[in-house]
Amino acid sequence: MTTFRTKTPNHFDLPRRIARLGELAYNLWWTWNPHAQRLFNRIDNALWERLNHNPFVFLGQVGRSEINAVAQNTIYLDLYDRVCREFDAYLTRTDTWCAQNHPAHCEQTIAYFSMEFGLHEILPSYSGGLGVLAGDHLKEASDLGLPLVGVGFLYAEGYFSQRISEDGWQDAQNNPIAIEDLPILPVLNESGEPITIAVKFPDRAITARIWELRVGRVPLYLLDTNVDENNPADRKLTARLYWSDLDLRIAQEVLLGVGGVRALRALGYNPTVWHMNEGHAAFLTLERVRELVASGETFEAAAAKTRANNVFTTHTPVPAGNDEFPLWLMDKYLSPMWPELGLDRDQFVDLARNRQSWGESFSMPVLALRFSAGRNAVSELHGRVSRRMWHFLWPEVEEDDVPITYVTNGVHTGTWMARRLRVLFDKHLGEDWLDRLDDPETWTKVNDIPDAELWAVRTHLKRKLAFYVLERARQHWRRGGYHPVQVIASGVLLDPYVLTIGFARRFATYKRASLVFSDLDRLLKIINRPNRPVQIIFAGKAHPADEPGKMLIQEVYRMVKKAENGGRLVFLEDYDINLARYLVQGVDVWMNNPRRPNEASGTSGMKAALNGGLNFSVLDGWWREAYNGHNGWAIGDDADTDTKVSDAADAESLYNVLENEIIPLYYSDRNGDDIPRKWVARMKESMRTVTPQFSTRRMVKEYAERLYLPAMRSTLR
Ligand SMILES: *Cc1c(COP(=O)(O)O)cnc(C)c1O
Repeated sequence: MTTFRTKTPNHFDLPRRIARLGELAYNLWWTWNPHAQRLFNRIDNALWERLNHNPFVFLGQVGRSEINAVAQNTIYLDLYDRVCREFDAYLTRTDTWCAQNHPAHCEQTIAYFSMEFGLHEILPSYSGGLGVLAGDHLKEASDLGLPLVGVGFLYAEGYFSQRISEDGWQDAQNNPIAIEDLPILPVLNESGEPITIAVKFPDRAITARIWELRVGRVPLYLLDTNVDENNPADRKLTARLYWSDLDLRIAQEVLLGVGGVRALRALGYNPTVWHMNEGHAAFLTLERVRELVASGETFEAAAAKTRANNVFTTHTPVPAGNDEFPLWLMDKYLSPMWPELGLDRDQFVDLARNRQSWGESFSMPVLALRFSAGRNAVSELHGRVSRRMWHFLWPEVEEDDVPITYVTNGVHTGTWMARRLRVLFDKHLGEDWLDRLDDPETWTKVNDIPDAELWAVRTHLKRKLAFYVLERARQHWRRGGYHPVQVIASGVLLDPYVLTIGFARRFATYKRASLVFSDLDRLLKIINRPNRPVQIIFAGKAHPADEPGKMLIQEVYRMVKKAENGGRLVFLEDYDINLARYLVQGVDVWMNNPRRPNEASGTSGMKAALNGGLNFSVLDGWWREAYNGHNGWAIGDDADTDTKVSDAADAESLYNVLENEIIPLYYSDRNGDDIPRKWVARMKESMRTVTPQFSTRRMVKEYAERLYLPAMRSTLR
C-alpha cells in the first residue's frame, strides 16, 4: 500500500521546542482529545474562540510574544510533552481492538463512502445527523484500529450559514471557505504532481483532484473539481452540499461513486469492503462491476462477485432522503456506461427501476440494496420499517425475512463529552474508562459519584452555555443588522439556574418543531411559573429549498420574539457542531418529538445523555431501544403516529409529562445544598444505560463483526 503524501510542512515558524504543534494541527485527533485542545487555547483563548477553533489559522495569527511565553512555561511544556507522547502512542499503537480480535483482517482496506462528513466546525461538509454519524464512524474506526479509509467531497463553499431575519425568515449564506486554512494536503504522485481522476459524461469529462485529511489513523480522501482542466461550471460541482438542481446532483453522485473508486485505485488501495453510507454513493457498485467486465467477466458474474464486498446503510424512510433520478437524466449522464457494462438501455434501467407517482425513476437505494450483500438500517424500529418499505424487492419472502438487518447508531464519546465530565470519570471510573467504554460494567460505578460533584459539573456546563449564548448575541449586535428583539430572541435573558430544555435539529416538517406550541396559553403558563420557570432553546437549519421547513422556523421564531414568553423561549442561529456541543453539554433536557416512525435513529439525544442531559422523546429510533422508564421520559406511547389526531395526543402527553413529572423532579427535593437528588439519580441512570450502548464503540464493532468481516471473508475464499 502506497499513499503518496507530501511531508507534513511546518510553515508556522514555531520555536523548535514546540514545533510539533504544526503537526498536531494536521490531524483531527486533537479534536477529541481535550489535552491537545488545551495546547492551543492556552496560548490565547480569546483568539482561539474568535477563529472558531481552527488551529491552522490560529498558529498563523497568534502573536510571537504569546508563543514565546508558552515555549518557556514549564507547565505548558509538560502538557506539550505529554500530548506529543499520547499522539505518537495513539498513531503507532499495535494492540488495538482490531489487532487483538481480528488480526487476520486488520491489513485489508474498508472503503467508507459518504456524501457528508461532520468532523469539526472548521470543516462545514455536513448538513446534519448523517454527516456527523459518518465523522464519528471515522474517529471510532481510528480508535479501534480498523483499516478504514473515507471517501467524500471537499466542498469549497461548505454547507450554508444561517441568518434569521427579523420576521423569522431563514437567509442562507454561502461563504467560500479558504482551503489554505484547512488541515488538508493535496495527494501528490512521485514527481510531486497532484493525482487526479476523471469521470466521463457523453459531452465531457470531469476531472477531480484529491485532498487528504487525517482523522487519527484514518485517512479521509476528498474529491474536488475546482481544477484548471474543468470548465467554469464543473469547477463549481463540488462547491456545495446537496444541490437542488438535479443535473448537479446526479453529476455529483457519479463523481462520488465512480470517481471515488477511481481515486482509491489511483492511490493504490484495493478495498475488500465497500461501505455506502446512504444511497448517494451507490454508483460505486456499477464502477466495480465495470472494472471486472473490462477484464473479461460477464455482467452477471461481475455483479455476483462484487456484491459480496458491498455494504449499504439506509438512513431514512423519508422520501426526500432517498434519491431517485428521472430516466431522461440517467440517459443524459450514464449512457456511456451501458456498453461498458455490456447492457442495453433497458437492462441498465432495470437495475434500479422504480415507479413513482410522477413516472419511472432510477432509485439509488434500490441500486444499493440489489448490489450489496450487507444491508442495514440504523435502529431496530427502522429495521422493521425498512423491511416493509423494501419488501417489494424480495417478494418471495415474508416481510420479516427481508434481508435488511439493523445496527443502531451511536456517538463518538471523546468528541461529544465535556472535558470536565471526562475528568470526573477519570477520578471515579478509573483512568482507563475510555478503553472500557462499551462495557456496561464500567458504568455501574457512576452510581458511586457523589451527587454534589456531578451536579457541580452540570451547573458549570450550563453556565458555560449561557455565557456562550450571551457572547454570540453581543458579537452579532455589534456587527449590526440586528433588531433589538432579535437580541432577546437569541438568549440574553437565559438564566443558568432554570430548568433548560434543548430542541435542536434539522427543520424538516416530520420533526414537528412547533408541537410544543399547540396550546400556547398552557405553554406560557408552564414556562413563566414563578419559582419553577422553564426555558426552551431552539436551533436548526432547514434545507434552502425546503419551504415548509423554513416556514416552520418562522413559526418558531415568531413565538420566540413574543414578550409574553419573558425571553425564556430562544432561537439560536446557525446550528453547527460547535453550537451542538454547547447545547448537548449544557441543557438539562433534550426534547425530540418527530412523527414516528420517521426518525430512523437520531443521535443528538445520545450526546445529551452522555453529558448528563435527560431525554424527553417520542419512542422512535434509538430512544425506543434506550428508554427503560427511569432514564428519561417518553412522549406519547409505543405506537406509530402519523395523523393529526396523534399530533394532538402527543402534544397533550408532552404537556402532562412536563408539568407533572419533569418540572417537579427538577425543582423539588432539594435539601439544604440545593441539589435535586432524584433528578441526579435519573441522570446517573441515563448515563449508565445510554453511554456504553449508544456509543460508536459498540456501533463500529458491530459493523466490523456483522458486516465487514463477512465481506472480507468472502474475498479470502
Ligand atoms: C448530532 C447532530 C445532528 C443529528 O441530530 P438528530 O436530530 O439527533 O438527528 C445534527 N446536527 C448536528 C450539528 C449534530 O451535531
